[in-house]
Amino acid sequence: MQTGKIGVTTENIFPIIKKFLYSDHEIFLRELISNAVDATQKLRTMASAGDYKGEAGDAKIFVTVDKKKKTIKVSDNGVGMTEEELDKYLNQIAFSSANDFLDKYKDQANSIIGHFGLGFYSSFMVSDKVEVITRSYQDGAKAVKWTCDGSPEYTIEESVRDGRGTDVILHIDKESKDFLDDNKIEQLLKKYCKFLPVEIAFGKEQEWKDGKMVDTGKDKIINNTKPAWTLKPSELKDEDYQKFYRELYPAGDEPLFNIHLNVDYPFKLTGILYFPKIKSNIEIQKNKIQLYCNQVFVTDSVEGIVPEFLTLLHGVLDSPDIPLNVSRSYLQSDSNVKKISSHITKKVADRLNDIFRNNREEFEKKWDSLKLFIEYGMITEEKFYEKVSKFALLKNTDDKYFTYEEYEKIIKENQTDKHKSLIYLYSTNKTDQFSYIEKAKSKGYDVLNLDGQLDIHLINHLETKFKDSRFVRVDSDVIEKLIQKEETRDAKLPKEKQDDLKSVFNIRPKSKEVFNVTFETLDENETPVMITQSEFMRRMKDMSAMGGGMNFYGELPDSYNLVVNPNHKLVIKVSDELYAAKGDELSSNDAERKKLKEEIDFMEKEHKKKKSDEISQLEKDDLEKLRKELSDIEDSRKNVLEAFGSGNNTVKQLVDLALLSNNMLRGEELSTFVKRSVELL
Ligand code: ADP
Repeated sequence: MQTGKIGVTTENIFPIIKKFLYSDHEIFLRELISNAVDATQKLRTMASAGDYKGEAGDAKIFVTVDKKKKTIKVSDNGVGMTEEELDKYLNQIAFSSANDFLDKYKDQANSIIGHFGLGFYSSFMVSDKVEVITRSYQDGAKAVKWTCDGSPEYTIEESVRDGRGTDVILHIDKESKDFLDDNKIEQLLKKYCKFLPVEIAFGKEQEWKDGKMVDTGKDKIINNTKPAWTLKPSELKDEDYQKFYRELYPAGDEPLFNIHLNVDYPFKLTGILYFPKIKSNIEIQKNKIQLYCNQVFVTDSVEGIVPEFLTLLHGVLDSPDIPLNVSRSYLQSDSNVKKISSHITKKVADRLNDIFRNNREEFEKKWDSLKLFIEYGMITEEKFYEKVSKFALLKNTDDKYFTYEEYEKIIKENQTDKHKSLIYLYSTNKTDQFSYIEKAKSKGYDVLNLDGQLDIHLINHLETKFKDSRFVRVDSDVIEKLIQKEETRDAKLPKEKQDDLKSVFNIRPKSKEVFNVTFETLDENETPVMITQSEFMRRMKDMSAMGGGMNFYGELPDSYNLVVNPNHKLVIKVSDELYAAKGDELSSNDAERKKLKEEIDFMEKEHKKKKSDEISQLEKDDLEKLRKELSDIEDSRKNVLEAFGSGNNTVKQLVDLALLSNNMLRGEELSTFVKRSVELL
């Protein structure tokens, strides 16, 4: 028997490893099985190159749990190790590389957590003793056994083993006894080893016999050794891709389509990405891509490896060129990772372009399910925008689809305003904004349907890209103002009468919404009163609601314009009624107001002639008094006007109708409106 000390300088390396890798103890199984797969494949390679003449046999890795002995065993029939190799690989290389690793990262506990590739050594995270019984494939090789109890001391002795290969036997320690559960191990095997290229047997297939489940003689294989992404695209049909999708996500919806990646240069990358149907809520859709390294599962959180928007895709990526044994922040700056990431972005854009060119009908059909993904990509990745903006679609309120270029051509002539800005009209809700859409259409304008989760962000983005163009929601102003043309129209009510009507129409209760009465000289056949909401404010509030960081706007009350058309005969009628009923009161108020104004004007002029210290306190008080009187007079005029408005059925009816067509008349107000309408009839 040979005994020795493992070549480490740090005596207490085991406690350090146990501590740092705490959160990832389970990876020991992946590591041991990867080694077993490597050993098996080495033998295969040698056999096919003619370097190994013996029988290659059935390549299979067996995993067994022995609850009584408290052991987990991983057995392979791969190349095995000679005594020298055992000494070299397990005593010197494995341990010293672990030591290097710890030296390098001892200040960065975080980068050690999630570390990949401690290899064989990770078995000590769960064991108080590890035995390796191995026999090399070489002619006449003897079996040897290596034992180590977690201290840097080990023994190597002669042993027995039928045939070549390696058994690694872990004596599971007290804290890790959970791993002695068959279900737990099966679950780990399925997580990490589902697509390994060598069969992994764990227990036996079972069958129903004599009223209970019993083991059959057949090994239970837990993995698919030839997953779709490792095959050539020419060998696969649509069904095969669908089937593989099911294998990955048993509970998922059918994907829209897929991209098979196969890159050799300048890095190695294979994989299949699927476009899922994305309806809404981006957050919960993330993290479906699984990352593999030579068919060994590494992680399903791929942020930093692929661009953010691609994390909405599903599928697998497999690359031996992604450095796995480093922290995430390092990953993000790695040049290979950057290349891979921009390559995938390009591939995805190319694939979308192919579908668009070859089958536009199909592309349009899938657009609504795709657009969240595409818009996310366009907003966040400039490169993606450049490619995709050539075929990204806009849908209008008649459910027709256009590319950006096509749409611009269609609206260019009619929707360019007098300032030479091209106005894109849009609606976020075809039902709620129906009357506004109709009005725009009656002018020959086209209205886009932008009801997607990211549409508001997208138009902010497009406004920075499209030259001299603006997006405005159809209900953000009267149509004449949305797209301003040269023509002007005379108002039938003079300015003073409009000023009075401003207070007359100011009848909304002062609740959480703010209504600002404005006048817009429209055609006499246009709506008498309507409600609009400024594009700017609404967009800011929408963004703040979506967490776009504009919290300030989110706090503000909703503010609307109550737009009155002074050319409409009902508005003129209200004005006439007003002066018929309140004419005397208003003209005497007006006379007083004028008189006061004149006096104030006069006094202000006098004061201006003097230096401020020459004006006596008495004079100052007089002016102040007059100003107060004027404001009282104005208030009392306002009160008269508002009282008239609140008591006038035409005003109430007009305002309610405007609210109603904007879907804002609800509850008690709605029933009052209905009652009043019936009475008026
Ligand atoms: P890595 O696999 O990253 O090289 P490990 O610590 O896991 O590091 O293993 C060290 C070496 O021990 C391997 O490179 C291999 O040569 C040898 N080895 C480990 N497990 C086996 C095995 N099951 N069969 C044959 N050789 C093995």
